[in-house]
Amino acid sequence: MTYRFALVGNPNCGKTTLFNEVTGSTQHVGNWPGVTVEKKEGKARRFKEHIQIVDLPGIYSLSPYSLEEIIARDYILDEKPDVVINIVDATNIERNLYLTTQLLELGIPVVIALNMMDSLEAKGDKIEISKLEKELGVPIIPTSANKGMGARELIEKALQMVQSVATSTETLSLPTLVIFEEKVEESISLVVDAMIHKWSNHRYPLRWAAVKLLEGDETVVVKTGLGNDAIDVIRPLRDQLEKEYDNDIESIFADQRYKYISRVVGRSVRKKRISGELTVSDKIDKILTNRILAIPLFLLVMYVMFTITFGFVGSFTIDFIDHFMNVTLADMTTTLLHLAGAADWLESLIVGGIIAGLGSILIFVPQIMILFFFLAILEDSGYMSRAAFIMDRLLRKIGLSGKSFIPMIMGIGCSVPAIMATRTLENEKDRRLTIILTPFISCGARLPVYALFAAAFFATSQSTVIFSLYILGMVVAILSGILLRKTIFKGEAEPFVMELPPYRIPTLKGLTIHMWDRGKGFIKKAGTVIFAASVIIWFGQTFSFSLSQVDDVSDSIFGAVGNFIAPVFAPLGFGDWRSSVALLTGFVAKEAVVATMGILNNLGEVGEDSVQLMASLQLYFTPLKAYAFMTFTLLYMPCIAAFAAIKREMNSWKWTLFAVGYQTATAWIVAFIIYQGGRLVGLG
Ligand code: GDP
Ligand code: MG
Repeated sequence: MTYRFALVGNPNCGKTTLFNEVTGSTQHVGNWPGVTVEKKEGKARRFKEHIQIVDLPGIYSLSPYSLEEIIARDYILDEKPDVVINIVDATNIERNLYLTTQLLELGIPVVIALNMMDSLEAKGDKIEISKLEKELGVPIIPTSANKGMGARELIEKALQMVQSVATSTETLSLPTLVIFEEKVEESISLVVDAMIHKWSNHRYPLRWAAVKLLEGDETVVVKTGLGNDAIDVIRPLRDQLEKEYDNDIESIFADQRYKYISRVVGRSVRKKRISGELTVSDKIDKILTNRILAIPLFLLVMYVMFTITFGFVGSFTIDFIDHFMNVTLADMTTTLLHLAGAADWLESLIVGGIIAGLGSILIFVPQIMILFFFLAILEDSGYMSRAAFIMDRLLRKIGLSGKSFIPMIMGIGCSVPAIMATRTLENEKDRRLTIILTPFISCGARLPVYALFAAAFFATSQSTVIFSLYILGMVVAILSGILLRKTIFKGEAEPFVMELPPYRIPTLKGLTIHMWDRGKGFIKKAGTVIFAASVIIWFGQTFSFSLSQVDDVSDSIFGAVGNFIAPVFAPLGFGDWRSSVALLTGFVAKEAVVATMGILNNLGEVGEDSVQLMASLQLYFTPLKAYAFMTFTLLYMPCIAAFAAIKREMNSWKWTLFAVGYQTATAWIVAFIIYQGGRLVGLG
């Protein structure tokens, strides 16, 4: 017997935190809306029963507007979980109960998790739980998901509910809340009656469907499959209500739901804060979202982040791993292979291919982790929501919405989840546009490329150079947004209403999960994709097309392919065949650019560490060429995983090819401008 419990609630109310607590998994949590855009499933641990927990994207109501809201609603309605666990942010109870009143109409058992009790107590507010339970007619369990408090009781309660339903012969008697005023309730009853007696279709819970039909929710009308006769009954009822209240029908229902909620809240919640008084969050926001200071502060925060990541902390760890991988490990392996009498080609494959390839990338893992740790602090504290809010003010002027900014910021980690996060955009045009722009934001996989080249060519200003590339990515994204908005995606940006979550002090556990969640992908990728790529690169540089071993790498398969495409890149300053091959392999994964450089520049000598690799690069790159090369790596089409994500989300080959074509063309043009412009002003 498997039970299915679905976690349902507003964005940012703590669903994923609770999910992680109950299932022991480490899903991405973030102090901003829009983090979970897909449903995630897991098994509750420490229960003898088999309990499947489903974490759904956050929704404000059951009338969906965006794709993620549709995912959540369809799951609840069509897959009918055994219990809906409704998570309510206690510090924001009025708004959260709006969804609750709709869930209670569904006829599925509901348990409420009243979350963020710790914050509520800290604020000095009080909720009388037993009173609220009586008002709503469902059990309520107080929780503080981030401290693990109440999670077990919650699941036990839900279990108790399904089990009592299963053993009793009657169906569970769920409360019917009288939420609306009499006239509205009468209309609802009429529709419910008609559904029972006249229309045979019982696909949806009656009361809920009746409200939706009255509201004229088209997806429900269609899905219910009701014919014209039903519409004929409903329309006059709706018209009459609209006339009586002198308001449109959706507002009538929404108003009355809020009135009901404020009555309930008035009876069970005691607030300490006198309205008008500023909270700590409000005070911080006065500075951080200040009209003039906001953007300089945002840039400063980013700059400090990069300085620390690439300054002393980062380089210290690099030297250590570098020496270990590329000298100690390579030496040891060579000695062992000699002792075992291994063939020369095998030694070349293992030391010159795999260790050189992986070693050139793994040395950057600490820096990637440090960067992700800082990003986690920014997200978990609530600052990133402010960044989106600040950016909205700026982006709106050029026809983009702050909603597009959230996927972009996620893109600093990895473009794949970022592209998926565009599901929060309701409008198809805005969504396509954002998908095209998101890969311009530099993802973590590009970091090894910058780290290597910045260290080789800009030793004294590494962090500034890397920071400038991130900013360049954002600027290109914004300029492309303006351009595409004026041409292909004409229209207005979708309004962006984001409620700013309160600032929170991040927990170390949360930060670690968060950092690991993003960072583990790189280590996994090194063990799989980069490993395989290293073997292929080794093969491509060792053999010629006739499969004989070559003495001079430029005669190899890669030498031939690289020389063939190199003229395309010559005007950008990197017409060397090795750069071309590196960019080709970069399509598999952007880190492969570094792996390729590591292997192609490994002059067959054992114990090459990155200092020697940099010296080899200096033979055919100048700082200007290196910068143009980094720019191209930043902007050209993303890796194959991101390509697949674009295809999936665009659901169209035409748009997918347009996206990568646009990105690659942009990369070429920008790198061209930088290189040729740089030469004009005499930068070499
Ligand atoms: P979701 O969008 O509903 O999945 O919310 P998340 O699980 O991502 O959590 C949103 C934010 O609230 C994160 O910063 C969490 O650390 C924080 N959070 C979650 N539960 C609690 C809680 O009980 N108390 C406090 N103070 N913070 C919480
Ligand atoms: Mg979530």
